[in-house]
Amino acid sequence: MCDGPGAPPRPAPPSPPPGPGAPRRRAPPPRGPARRPKSIELKPRPGAPDVLDISFTFDATKPCLVSTFVMATESVRTMELTPAGGAPDRLPFPAGLGQRFEDPTGRHSLDLSRHPEPSLTSAAGSTYPLAIRLEVAGLGAGGEGLAGLPPGCAQEDWMQSHTTLAELVRGDGGAWSVRVLKQKIWHEGTPYELQEIYGLGAADGDAGAAGDDDDAMTECIICMTNDREVALLPCRHMCMCAECARIMMSPHNTSATRAKCPICRRRVHNYLSIRQEDRGRGGGDGNV
Ligand SMILES: [Zn+2]
Ligand SMILES: [Zn+2]
Repeated sequence: MCDGPGAPPRPAPPSPPPGPGAPRRRAPPPRGPARRPKSIELKPRPGAPDVLDISFTFDATKPCLVSTFVMATESVRTMELTPAGGAPDRLPFPAGLGQRFEDPTGRHSLDLSRHPEPSLTSAAGSTYPLAIRLEVAGLGAGGEGLAGLPPGCAQEDWMQSHTTLAELVRGDGGAWSVRVLKQKIWHEGTPYELQEIYGLGAADGDAGAAGDDDDAMTECIICMTNDREVALLPCRHMCMCAECARIMMSPHNTSATRAKCPICRRRVHNYLSIRQEDRGRGGGDGNV
């Protein structure tokens, strides 16, 4: 067996062993019943332009409760969210795809006159200008429900939630938009932070999700034969098959390409196998 840089990559066996730098696989984080909000909008209220009404689209496969928070401080361990000025009640939604969150009472909104602009446009520490939480409306083992707990409460073992943490961006024309900083899920007492994998949509044959030519390909960028099946870390480019990643990371590879991402040239510390069966679980969200 030759792993030298000149050796042509061989077709990968069905389940190649992880390379020396490969992390041990953990069970993939679950794809929760409530999915990340999309198309988050902040619309100035007619007659009160300092008030921005929060709206967005989301998917839920179970009935869920939605809450929003302005200038909320997050406790990393329990995911408790403490907003500066309290939070409006959660709004209930049925299961359904492509639902639109809009609050007819106007309480899920952001009042620009109450917050200096610099605090809205950059998260400080664990305080986020805008947070959105989708919680599954389930009951705990003791029959207790979310309704009896305040919005943003510390998450209990029986809860499932998806939280988006974001800051605001002011466009040239003065319009406000949202930049998502983190997406986290809470599942069985554990918080997970979701990470985007660049090229995962292309590897699934969804070229429309890709931004450039490299992403539009579904084959390994090195051997042009096998499917893309590993994400390089920390850059998260999904551009290679497992065999080529193993060769690239091998200590026997003395070429200049050793441990460098072929797309962005960043040093690769590790790589993560994304197996075909995992893609159906997290692929749509681009989650690890
Ligand atoms: Zn390859
Ligand atoms: Zn890269």
